[in-house]
Order: sequence, then C-alpha cells, then structure tokens
Amino acid sequence: MSKQSDVLSTEFLVKVAEEFGTPVYIYHAEKIKIQYEKLQNAFIKTDARFFYACKALTNINILKYINSLGCGLDTVSINEVQLGLKAGFEPKNIIFTPNCVDLDEIIAAKDLGVNINIDNISILEQFGNRFGDSYPICIRLNPHIMAGGNYKISTGHVDSKFGISIHQLRHIERIVKSTKLKVTGLHMHTGSEIKDVDVFLRGVDIMFELAVNFPDLEFIDLGSGFKVAYQQGDPETDIALLGRKLSEAFNKFNKTYSRPLQVWFEPGKFLVSQSGYFVVKANVIKQTTATVFVGVNSGFNHLIRPMFYDAFHLIRNISNPKGTERIYTVVGNICETDTFGWDRKLNDVREGDYLVFYNAGAYGFEMSSNFNSRFKPAEVLIKEGKAHLIRKKDVFEDLLRNQIEL
Ligand SMILES: *Cc1c(COP(=O)(O)O)cnc(C)c1O
Repeated sequence: MSKQSDVLSTEFLVKVAEEFGTPVYIYHAEKIKIQYEKLQNAFIKTDARFFYACKALTNINILKYINSLGCGLDTVSINEVQLGLKAGFEPKNIIFTPNCVDLDEIIAAKDLGVNINIDNISILEQFGNRFGDSYPICIRLNPHIMAGGNYKISTGHVDSKFGISIHQLRHIERIVKSTKLKVTGLHMHTGSEIKDVDVFLRGVDIMFELAVNFPDLEFIDLGSGFKVAYQQGDPETDIALLGRKLSEAFNKFNKTYSRPLQVWFEPGKFLVSQSGYFVVKANVIKQTTATVFVGVNSGFNHLIRPMFYDAFHLIRNISNPKGTERIYTVVGNICETDTFGWDRKLNDVREGDYLVFYNAGAYGFEMSSNFNSRFKPAEVLIKEGKAHLIRKKDVFEDLLRNQIEL
C-alpha cells in the first residue's frame, strides 16, 4: 500500500458510509492527482503525455477532475469520446483506441476531431481509401510480447485480437502508400499489470525499429499496464526507473529521427485504482462446518474483479479496527458462488459492521451490473476533505427503465 497520508482513514470511511449508506464507492480526488504527478515527475526528462484510460472509471466528475489536472483521455467507445467532450476535454487531448468497431464509429470519432487509433487492416484500408491524407491516424500494433498479470488482461500475445501484427508491416506499408494515409503515431498496449520495466523497454525497441518506415510520426504511444500494489509487499511497476530508462531511449532515438517524437501513455488503473474504496456492510456471519463466512450487502454485481480476474482486494473491518483477528471468508449476496476473499484475517466481524475493499477505483463501479435485480451502488467523491455524492444509488424504477411491458 502507499504511504499512510495518501490513504483515507478508517474513521473517515465509516463516517461517509453512515452518511451515504452502503454499499458505496468512495473516490479520493487528491490521490488521483498524486498518481498523475508521479507519472509526470518520472518522465520529466522527455516529452511525455498521459491519456487517462477512462474505461477504468467514467463518472463525469472524475473525468472533469482529471481534465483539470491537464491529463488527456484514452477512450474505447464513441460514448466515452462523447463523455470526454462533455467533461471538457479538447478533442486533441482525446485518443480513440477502439477494437472491432465498424467504420461508422471511427468516422463519428473523426467528425468529433479526436485522435484516432486504428487496430486492423480492414479498417485501415477503408479509412485510407475514404480519407487519404486528410486526417492523420495512429496505428495500433501488436508487438507479440507476452505480458501482464493474467491471460485475460494480456493483449500483446500472438493469439490476441488486439492490434495489427508487426509481421504485417509490409501490408500496412502498401496500404499507407497506396492511400496516402498520414500516420502520425504508432501504438502498442501489451496488457495490464506489467511489473517488469523491461517489457516496456523491449516494446519500445520494437516500435523504434518500425518507426523508420513511417516518416510522418509525431508520437509513440506505449499504452499502459502499470501495475499498482493491491496488498502490502505487492510489486509495483517502478515508474521512476521506467521514466529514466524510457526517457534515455527516446532522447537517443530522437537524434536519429527527422523530428523529436513524443511518448504517450494511457494509464487507467495507475491513476484511479488506489483512489477508490468500496464500503459494504456485514449482513450475516455464518458459521459452517469448515468456514466462517461474512455475507455482505453486495456481490460480484458490484465488484467483479475477484471472481472475474481472481484479483486480490485487501479487506478491512473498519467498524471494529481493534477487535481480535479471526479468519473469515468474505462472500456476497448473489445467488451464485460469489467470493470476495478466502481466509482473510479480519478484526472480529459483527453483523452490521462496515468492511472496506481497498483499490476499488479501477474496474469497480465501471463493471457493475444489476444482476439479481440489485441496485447499482452510489458513488461519492472526496475532494478537499469534503464528501460529495456524485451518483445516486439506483431505485426500483431503474430496473424497469427501457423495458416495454406488453
Ligand atoms: C484498458 C486500456 C488501458 C488501461 O489499462 P490499465 O491497466 O488500466 O492501465 C490503456 N490503453 C488501452 C488501449 C486499454 O484498452
């Protein structure tokens, strides 16, 4: 975990839970700023730009806050582009990096004036035929680097659906040449939770080798995958080391290229994961033959990462921080196996206690659903010490919204 000062205190979390009810997602704005500044400082020696990968968390207030920091936005759907514009991002500070969308969606993004990242030969050809050199593009490449915390979140391996294989370079070149496409960026994103700095360095070497084939480049986008710590002692991407090494590599390469290239990144998790806290209430303590379960008033409908990615979220009992530690298995209330954490040491849990899940900012609320006809939880933003409700919890009518009764 990060320094104590970055972390909201358990007393404060209890107060917010009491005021707004549970389950509730709580985001700490200043922590996002701390993370953004860490990135900026690490890359101070080269021309680096950061685009928040907003699929991690898209509440409009989070987007506005991140825009206010001077960070750009990475989007994967036309709706995210629209949300970004609504939040005040300038089109030039938005990059659209979709996957398997049709040409219409790409054109819609072009009409909004944002940076476009094309990730397959078919669209590249169609876009080139239609627009030629009138609208610059970035190409998403697959460098075939196996990386990332989990197969499900690895995107650069040989079987991945993402990007255009670097082995198809000749085909890309033929299309670019015949349609006069203006390629101003090359992109790669090899996955999430990459702790090894060398993975990025290998990636950037491959990008530099390819760059000589594209004379109009202005930037190389290295995507994201920065790992954050989910528990004490967890390895994190060494951002400072990465910054030093990549800056060196870029500054060296830039002497050989016709203009200095910027390096772009698309951090999602790194910016918002640790800013988020998910607070739930212990509904039932259930002793079975082998296990003591804590059944909480939430489930994988609200936080799916443990069940979907086998992700670890640190859990604490914030209502009884001095209670005797016991071993519990924390489960949700969904009618399916729904385990948040096996064999966790928690301070004695009593029915009605509040438990917090740390690192819940990224892919938490954003992946929530109404499964089991449960309400999506509220979201609260802590800014300058004040708690603001930024999303109401669902109400019953929300479950029927858009349904048409015959
Ligand atoms: C998801 C995604 C990211 C962000 O990944 P994190 O692991 O959350 O930092 C960046 N770029 C692209 C293209 C993505 O799809």
